[in-house]
Amino acid sequence: MKQLADGVWQLAGFPPNGINVYVIDDVLIDAATRHASRRIARQLKGHKLSAHALTHAHPDHQGASRAVCERYGVPFWVGEHDADAAEDPSLIGQRQPDSPIARFFVKTMTGPGHRVDRKLHEGDEVAGFSVIDVPGHSAGHVAYWRASDGVLILGDVLNNMDVLTAIPGLTEPKPYLTPDPAENRRSAKKLGPLEPKLVLFGHGAPLRDTKKFVDFVDNLPD
Ligand SMILES: [Zn+2]
Repeated sequence: MKQLADGVWQLAGFPPNGINVYVIDDVLIDAATRHASRRIARQLKGHKLSAHALTHAHPDHQGASRAVCERYGVPFWVGEHDADAAEDPSLIGQRQPDSPIARFFVKTMTGPGHRVDRKLHEGDEVAGFSVIDVPGHSAGHVAYWRASDGVLILGDVLNNMDVLTAIPGLTEPKPYLTPDPAENRRSAKKLGPLEPKLVLFGHGAPLRDTKKFVDFVDNLPD
């Protein structure tokens, strides 16, 4: 694990920054695909976990969630409107746009469902971060924000890497993987005014360039 800020770590993966998993204090944020449980366990060795939370219940974020919760005996926390899909992943596929790539991701990455112990709402606190509702890429997508030092974990509201080619760069998530792109854009516009100092993505490298982030969001069409 690589430390990025006070009490914030990013797990290593391949390709680097391809599918990100973070730890904030003792909470694991996201769990990559169903093939990732060993990658996660290996890196968490010696690190205490008290909970596992998602940014959103998509196959590349919830894949190893049940394995993590069972291995560490920790509760599972998910945004209110993704909780049903985290428990019953057949809903994930049903809610994706009708596209072959979405179907491929669902088929190859989705992990088993797991009982959600806490439904997250805007303003809730998770390991010193506050929850922000940012729907669009999924109905119950949430971001985690720590105002004291400007750290934002925004999941897939924006990507800092093309998820198919792995070419770096800020971009909106693919429309064929996003049930409501217009709503996702409104959610992105909610995050720009925070002026985060460190932005952590579901896909792509950490970004420490506040102006680049704010300008990108400002320049998104309304
Ligand atoms: Zn993703």
